[in-house]
Amino acid sequence: MKLILLGAPGAGKGTVAKQLTQLDGSVQISTGDILRGAVQAGSELGKQAEAYMKAGDLVPDDLIMGIMEQRLQEPDCEKGFLLDGFPRTIPQAEALKDLLKRIAVDLDFAVEIDVPREVILDRLTTRRTCVDCGAIYNVKSMPTKVEGVCDKCGGSVVQRDDETEEAISNRLDVYNEKTAPLVDFYRNENMLLTVSATSSEVVVNAIQERLGG
Ligand code: ADP
Ligand code: ZN
Repeated sequence: MKLILLGAPGAGKGTVAKQLTQLDGSVQISTGDILRGAVQAGSELGKQAEAYMKAGDLVPDDLIMGIMEQRLQEPDCEKGFLLDGFPRTIPQAEALKDLLKRIAVDLDFAVEIDVPREVILDRLTTRRTCVDCGAIYNVKSMPTKVEGVCDKCGGSVVQRDDETEEAISNRLDVYNEKTAPLVDFYRNENMLLTVSATSSEVVVNAIQERLGG
């Protein structure tokens, strides 16, 4: 399957993407994970992206398109991909449309995961992330067995720099201003599936149904 996952930070794009990869071997492509990896590695890309990310602002479109143009042409994408956190602006969506046409790839559709704002705020402030493998935990609903230690890889599990109250509120504003318009963009392209649900299983089932099985 070849899908775009849309939704506010904390809507559950990453969780849904991980569950979908289990179904048919499609790969999850998270621009946030790629950027955090680059920051950790101290690469040129990481240096350029770091300050924007820390403040909860978007990284410039040309940097993101450079990453995605390469990533989407890697062989593991042939089976399918789940775009998690990309596109995030109308210019990125337009550039993606051109890119896919150029490399002759057809998307199935874009999924809008619609979750109430109170749920989003609660999730983001209680979310914790493994710095090594990216596994996501929640201090209330899904704590690690040992505090601060990843169950999966033993890495340290921390609150992300952009998950302070100030950065979260900025990320939600940025989402409403820059990314929410993509819902209309994909609706106009006749490519939108909206699912209003806080359970990732419900979202995954709706996607499978729309894919026809
Ligand atoms: P979220 O939980 O907000 O969805 P992500 O892990 O997707 O977080 O992204 C973290 C940060 O990485 C964003 O706040 C932004 O700075 C940067 N980023 C990720 N994807 C993009 C993108 N497609 N365009 C611009 N910036 C991006
Ligand atoms: Zn881990």
